[in-house]
Amino acid sequence: LPMCRAMPKLELHAHLNGSIRAATLLELARERDEDCTELENILKKDKRSLPETFKLFGLIRILTTDHRVITRITREVIEDFAAENTIYIELRTAPKNNSAVGMTKRSYMESVKVGLDIAAPVSPIHVRLILSIDRRETTEAAMDTVRLACELRKEGWDIAGIDLSGDPAIGEWTTFAPALMFAREQGFPLALHCGEVRNSEDIRSMLAMRPERLGHVCCLDNYEWEVLLASRIPVEVCLTSNLATQSVPSIEEHHLAVLLKSDHPIAICTDDTGIFATSLSRELALAASCLALKPEEVTTLARSAIDFAFAESSVKRTLHQTFDSRAQKLL
Ligand code: 5GP
Repeated sequence: LPMCRAMPKLELHAHLNGSIRAATLLELARERDEDCTELENILKKDKRSLPETFKLFGLIRILTTDHRVITRITREVIEDFAAENTIYIELRTAPKNNSAVGMTKRSYMESVKVGLDIAAPVSPIHVRLILSIDRRETTEAAMDTVRLACELRKEGWDIAGIDLSGDPAIGEWTTFAPALMFAREQGFPLALHCGEVRNSEDIRSMLAMRPERLGHVCCLDNYEWEVLLASRIPVEVCLTSNLATQSVPSIEEHHLAVLLKSDHPIAICTDDTGIFATSLSRELALAASCLALKPEEVTTLARSAIDFAFAESSVKRTLHQTFDSRAQKLL
């Protein structure tokens, strides 16, 4: 773990609200006079089913509804990643409307930006944003998110791409496909949550779309595996999350080994550091121990994430230089 902590790292799959500090979440709950027993109990468990996880996201959503809180969480998340030597992060979040507090998708994103701006001078890390479409949304709401991404990019924001996430038990592929196609037409790379539960229609439609990256891919059948491996679509691997939500029964049975053996492009990611009580260093250490990697192989694994970042080649060149100069000191 100390080597993984010191290693320069890239985070390609982290959800803003899922990366909230547990202490902040409890503090916000207490501020609202909430009985925190249930929250504390869920946070204490190291395994929680996917439905329990989404119950927790529901609770977080209630507690993080105002602009000030979103700004605070953003700052803290960036500080936490920077503190463990993350040099680049594509932070994803679903823009939210909440008329009760005068929040629009745009004002939500603006409060994220304020958090980034506060963190920037003290946290040396290259931050880019991925806008998420939540599976609970309608086609029109999903289109709004892509339109907002277009507007923000035009205004000079560093928007890396578009994600599809949210409770995999909810929503139909046909609802999101138009917005994802529109995002692609607008030149945004796509990162889709795929195969967290068995849903062949979703999985096969996603594979057919050939997004730039896929997250999780836990519940694919043999045919879908073949298509995935042939496609060379990079996979964002989130070990602790997959184990905690029981999308994968045990670390020994995790598909990371198969992916690596097939020389498939992968990036080790956290998903939700707050929800799953993990960090990027821990995830890298877990992958290293699960695959019995030598220190040079851990470095290669961490470095390879640069290739799958949604970044221009000039940014990647700089990342390679930064990574190499910092990693060299470790070996
Ligand atoms: P937010 O977009 O609100 O900043 O981050 C939290 C949201 O990300 C959750 O409410 C959920 O919609 C999505 N999310 C976080 N982790 C996961 C995950 O493991 N799987 C899926 N499908 N969605 C997730």
